[in-house]
Amino acid sequence: MPELPEVETVKVGLGKLLPGKKIASVQYDWDKSFPNNKHDVDGFLVGSKVQKVRRRAKVLMIDLSTEYSLVIHLKMTGQLVFVGDERFGAGHPTDSLIGSLPDKSTRIIFCLSASKGDEFEINARKQRSAQGNVQEVRRTSTGVDDMAVTQKRWQSFGLCPEPGQCDAHLYFNDQRKFGWVRLIPTVEIPNIDFFKKVGPEPLGDDFKFGDFKKQLEKRKNSMIKAALLDQTVVAGIGNIYADESLYMAKIHPSTRVKDVSETKLKSLYEAIREVLNLSIEKGGSSDRNYVDAEGKRGSYLGFAKVFRREGKPCERCGSEIIKIKVAGRGTHICPKCQKEPK
Ligand SMILES: [Zn+2]
Repeated sequence: MPELPEVETVKVGLGKLLPGKKIASVQYDWDKSFPNNKHDVDGFLVGSKVQKVRRRAKVLMIDLSTEYSLVIHLKMTGQLVFVGDERFGAGHPTDSLIGSLPDKSTRIIFCLSASKGDEFEINARKQRSAQGNVQEVRRTSTGVDDMAVTQKRWQSFGLCPEPGQCDAHLYFNDQRKFGWVRLIPTVEIPNIDFFKKVGPEPLGDDFKFGDFKKQLEKRKNSMIKAALLDQTVVAGIGNIYADESLYMAKIHPSTRVKDVSETKLKSLYEAIREVLNLSIEKGGSSDRNYVDAEGKRGSYLGFAKVFRREGKPCERCGSEIIKIKVAGRGTHICPKCQKEPK
């Protein structure tokens, strides 16, 4: 599942490529991936220009010149791939990051055109009457979905309604179809339920140790791992990063929050930021590290010290890393470095 570092990687990558681009058209083949009404899409998406790419927790936002935003949740298997003069993809690591697109995991295609100054400056609101820029591509009912069929299916709906102007595509791929892209007015984003409840950004400059401690007090009787995974305590920490930071801070994941010493809590605070930053530095799961220097695929967990390393030696003490269950989740620990609470 794409976690905070992967979503941050998407943000940074697309943040270099999308601003200034015009969204010429959009096609999708699955209603739930793109739950937006045609009126809004024609009026506020098609013809708009990308201004900024932002992230909050694991949610991505693409702000548009129409004061609407695309709010994107990658969920379990979502990924975004930009294909133009250059290629950039990140999110859930699969072959779609590097393969030919669209493929069978493609749910939405955005046709993009370079905005060459004022001549392409279009007020999207005036475009409402423009014909058929939004197309819903129905999936073939035969169940046949090999690459040739997939490509043909999308092409038959006229991939680029503005031939010659479209110079790049943004693909939203999602094998399991839990992810979504919603178009909503930018000012309404903070009112979405999720944003009202979500905790502070662990990497934010204004997120100090005192804030971390205060947030954890809300769950003082919970196991520390459960508290870390609670998105209302801190935003965007998933299973991998909870295990990695608890290992780094030498805290057993089933320790109650109230039993973790101040010193250990401080180490944990530092560890969370270090582990997340390290992973972002390594590119989260992006096309760049999905294929490593030897052409080997999917090595994105290279930074992990305990996650999925059961049976291997702890780098600190040599003990065997084990996998246990804490708070209902598979949990990786060094039994010697992370002492079980009494
Ligand atoms: Zn150890």
